[in-house]
Amino acid sequence: MVTIGVLALQGDVRFHEEILKDVFKESKIDNGVIKRIKYPDDLEGIDGLIIPGGESTVIGVLAKKVGLLEALKNKILSDLPTLATCAGLVFLAKMVYDKTVGKVNQPILGILDADIERNSFGTQRESFETDLKLSILGDEPYKSVFIRAPLIKNVGPNVEVIAKFNEEIVAIKQDNIIGVAFHPELSGDLRLHKFFFDIVEARVNR
Ligand code: GLN
Repeated sequence: MVTIGVLALQGDVRFHEEILKDVFKESKIDNGVIKRIKYPDDLEGIDGLIIPGGESTVIGVLAKKVGLLEALKNKILSDLPTLATCAGLVFLAKMVYDKTVGKVNQPILGILDADIERNSFGTQRESFETDLKLSILGDEPYKSVFIRAPLIKNVGPNVEVIAKFNEEIVAIKQDNIIGVAFHPELSGDLRLHKFFFDIVEARVNR
């Protein structure tokens, strides 16, 4: 069994589950299991974790309320493969500010060695799609959906930049963590979730 946890406090949980199911189907994976994470005990037994996009302030407040802040932090720092998308990326960062209002006070995990600028592209209406080149997926462009997306401003020495958009960093990798500013669950392209599943499966079989 390869169990992928999806943090299910708020946000785009269902589409991550659906694209994972599509990956299982397409790649004839019969050992894949998806588990919703709502409480600290749910982290038991997962082999990988997806933190969906949504609203990072809400995710942070709810995580704090149910005791998931410490539990998630410990679990991810214990080398759990983790895919964090949009608000999930914000939630994982060491430093967060909002492009318009500046300093924000929201619960974050403080793991990703990066400064994250929230709402960098403006409001929901400024959402857009674009083709990006993700170094981990090779040359074929990856359709990327940006919804009130953040940008990744400064990264530490341990952080590998895996995609840029207009010279700005929009995807990174730090050890066991992949963080992207866009919504890969909405692209219809299975490659990033497959790439992540393969990493998790390789760990399980190691
Ligand atoms: N702007 C949101 C935040 O900072 C993220 C938006 C998203 O996940 N699509 O939490």
